[in-house]
Amino acid sequence: MNFKFCLGTENPAKVKEIRDILKDFDCEIVLPCVGKFPDETGITFAENALIKALFTAKHCRNLHAVAEDSGLVVPVLGGMPGILSSRFAGPNADDGKNIEKLLKYMTNKNNRQAYFVCVVALITPSGEQKFFEGRLYGRIAEEPRGQSGFGYDPVFEIPEIGKTLGEITSEEKNKISHRAKAFRQLAEYLSMAV
Ligand code: IMP
Repeated sequence: MNFKFCLGTENPAKVKEIRDILKDFDCEIVLPCVGKFPDETGITFAENALIKALFTAKHCRNLHAVAEDSGLVVPVLGGMPGILSSRFAGPNADDGKNIEKLLKYMTNKNNRQAYFVCVVALITPSGEQKFFEGRLYGRIAEEPRGQSGFGYDPVFEIPEIGKTLGEITSEEKNKISHRAKAFRQLAEYLSMAV
């Protein structure tokens, strides 16, 4: 095996994606039982990824600890939903409610450019911190299309193919996504470091 790390996340959809993204790297992903994560009190993706990675590190001695923070940035909305992506429509909002609120804010907006960001934070067993960032550029569709993926996938359109992330397969998404870009950088780093 190439390398092994602990992944801290409360989102099962992300675990599946990350496993698929790293399937060619011959690595083992350990999911420690960490309980409830601390509040994401950071003001950047990197700060929130670090909060989750430091918390994860407490539960995985002698292994690299990894956590990510991600979200959707819409420049015409001043960067919203940004770090608040998962709770855009309120603390207990589901994906449908978040999308509904986003589309309402986008009414009559000509500039529909947007991008996803994923920042991966790594804590090495000696306590060193490293960050890896990936982005995916696209536009906000006028209405949700497609059933695949999670979060804002049905309203995030890839202009080159005219389809939303909800309309493409997980294999296709994992070739281009912000998460794939960030986690491949992590995997390349760990392949060399371990
Ligand atoms: P986090 O768990 O605090 O990082 O929240 C990330 C939120 O950003 C998710 O709940 C989604 O709303 C959104 N998001 C992040 N990555 C994706 C993606 O790949 N597709 C769709 N939505 C995403």
